[in-house]
Amino acid sequence: MKFAKRVQDLPPYLFVGISRAIAKKKEQGIEVISFGIGDPDIPTPKSVIDRLKTASENPIHHRYPESEGLPEFRESVAKFYSDRFGVNLDYKTEIINLIGAKEGIAHAPLCFIDPGDIALVPNPAYPVYEIGTMFAGGETVFIDLLEENDFLIDFSSIDTKVAKKAKMLWINYPNNPTGAIANLDFYKEAVEFCKNFDIALMHDACYTEVTFDDYVAPSILQVPGAKDIAIEFHSLSKTANMTGWRVGSAAGNPDLINALMRVKSNIDSGLSQAIQEMGMEALSLSKDWINENNNIYKKRRDKVVATLQEIGLDAKAPSATLYIWTRVPDGYTSASFTERLLEEVNVVVTPGSGYGTAGEGFIRLSLTIPDDQIDEGLNRLSKFTLK
Ligand SMILES: *Cc1c(COP(=O)(O)O)cnc(C)c1O
Repeated sequence: MKFAKRVQDLPPYLFVGISRAIAKKKEQGIEVISFGIGDPDIPTPKSVIDRLKTASENPIHHRYPESEGLPEFRESVAKFYSDRFGVNLDYKTEIINLIGAKEGIAHAPLCFIDPGDIALVPNPAYPVYEIGTMFAGGETVFIDLLEENDFLIDFSSIDTKVAKKAKMLWINYPNNPTGAIANLDFYKEAVEFCKNFDIALMHDACYTEVTFDDYVAPSILQVPGAKDIAIEFHSLSKTANMTGWRVGSAAGNPDLINALMRVKSNIDSGLSQAIQEMGMEALSLSKDWINENNNIYKKRRDKVVATLQEIGLDAKAPSATLYIWTRVPDGYTSASFTERLLEEVNVVVTPGSGYGTAGEGFIRLSLTIPDDQIDEGLNRLSKFTLK
């Protein structure tokens, strides 16, 4: 059988290699500690689970959902935007429910990319921006995120000829994998750039609620005029420990939202309504609950950064996200350092090169493993000596 080019062209999923290495260690009777995958270990809040129990018994929810989501779910997202960002959205036309943000991110290029069209994608980045573009037959032009620019895009570095041809631009702050944050001035620049070149602006904002030390992340939709060209993706996966339930949303320009709805309605039939009710419950979690949840990560963050510094790495504490992004020591590549950590102290980290060529020279440690494992992992790391 001959597989389609889009399947042949798929890179191996980043964590497959890591899972294999872990399995091999296991065969040798060694339990590794993995700082690899970003997937909250803390359970979904009880109020959210209780909501599912009740909602599951309502026969209304036993039938097909609408692709765009329950009006009540979309109203909850509108309320979140208004309370949290001071942004007013019409839930009827400017908000759509997603089966996890990933689903919308993967499908969005189908709205804007014809074969040969260009999407601008940061490097390093969440791999789905590029793959979604490839699935749509488009071409990705990467924009390197450099440490000296605080991992923000330098719009002046983008070739005008490329910008003129580009149909979409992806940005993601607070950023996975670098932990970088962006302020409203940066978002203003992004909006201006995309307006100048008539580019659809996609902001992946999955980590706006996972913040530390009084940092408050803005929404791109706070920028006047952003709604003319932008949509923003949100997810309850990281905010409310709900990766397993798949609840996300997109909000912003009504034409863009409508295009995504039309694509989606031909692919899926929406997210289970009982789970949308969980999403509504999660959107009403108190600020105190969010702070307490973030505090767990903050404590882990501080411990991890301290240990990395102790062994001689130049690690800094990020103001947001679940990740520590740090340079490997001189003389190593992302892969060779990752291998050495696994071999010598049985600790898994993610090689930065897995997020793009510009991630080379970095590793990523995720804060989503239980505290006792973090402590054991750090105990092992502290025994590591740079040669
Ligand atoms: C986790 C993550 C997502 C996926 O969110 P889901 O709602 O679980 O699909 C999207 N973008 C980034 C950058 C992420 O880290």
